[in-house]
Amino acid sequence: MEKNVLNFTLKQLETKITKLNEKKFRAQQIFDWIYKKNIFDFEYMSNIPKSLIDKLNIELDITLPKIIKINTSKIDKSIKFLLETKDKNLIESLAILENKRVTLCISCMIGCPLKCKFCATGTELKFKRNLDASEIIGQYITINNFLKEKNIFGNINNVVFMGMGEPFLNLNNIEKSIEIFTHKKALDLSKKKLVISTSGVDKGLSDFINKFKIKLAVSIHFPTNEQRSQFMPINKKVPLEKLITELKKIDLKKREYITIEYLMIEKINDTLFHAEKLKSLLKGLKVKVNLIPYNPTKMFFAKPSSEKRINKFANYLLSKSIFVTVRRSKSKDVTGACGQFALKNNGVSLLK
Ligand code: SF4
Repeated sequence: MEKNVLNFTLKQLETKITKLNEKKFRAQQIFDWIYKKNIFDFEYMSNIPKSLIDKLNIELDITLPKIIKINTSKIDKSIKFLLETKDKNLIESLAILENKRVTLCISCMIGCPLKCKFCATGTELKFKRNLDASEIIGQYITINNFLKEKNIFGNINNVVFMGMGEPFLNLNNIEKSIEIFTHKKALDLSKKKLVISTSGVDKGLSDFINKFKIKLAVSIHFPTNEQRSQFMPINKKVPLEKLITELKKIDLKKREYITIEYLMIEKINDTLFHAEKLKSLLKGLKVKVNLIPYNPTKMFFAKPSSEKRINKFANYLLSKSIFVTVRRSKSKDVTGACGQFALKNNGVSLLK
């Protein structure tokens, strides 16, 4: 297994420590130093005996991604971070600051193999690899510490898996990250504070949500197979009917719903015809539709729908009793909006 302790769940670290002929409780102590006391060097873990520290220094390490650049939006003060992994790959995360709450949008891959036509990650970057759990939760720890150091609000309140990559194609690492995010002895975030976003994969979606009980957002964007396949190649493998059947298997409690993400692209998917198709598609599902004005990318320069068209679309859905919100696109000026993660961070360098 990887050497980085941030890749271990508590159980896995206990197993590792036992294999080093040490008592299991030492794993809990190490977790406490890392996740509660913010210490990332074994040498400073004062209740760990020197003999074990020596073993830990040989067998394990603690490595966080490093912030390379930051870019603060002049529109809404959100901050886009460019981070570097241990093997010198670059990833992006976005801290959205709103109503004194911080939502962190994190990446789960370097690039994305799904190649959605409207998405900068999928079209402008080459897919390199999945991120491991340490790199996923590392984004949270590094950025949380940065925000605290700079006195920019308090802790991160919500985490959304909506940055670079398709989380359901990196499930092992996502599962492990969720365990570390939510474990009482680790980051101790409520499951209600985590959202996973998907473009729709062929299996495991409903089982995953039923098991982990975190919130789900699904990128539908185009309500017919013909158009969706044109813009989102995954639709050829998992057509809309198959995706909706999978969504219907999710157990939702009284106030829970699935968020349907829908990009509003002028004259492409924003007519009443599309609104009607969307309504029919969502029949029988408990959803909230989130309309997102499209952010043009280098490879697909279409226009965002006008406010008038968005309102017409939204009003149609509302008239059919479908709950609708319109997302004000965050941080357009730092290319931190939906589908705009392409490592183009022209911000302030933090490299010495
Ligand atoms: S929209 Fe999501 S799934 Fe599609 S290419 Fe971009 S990152 Fe990948």
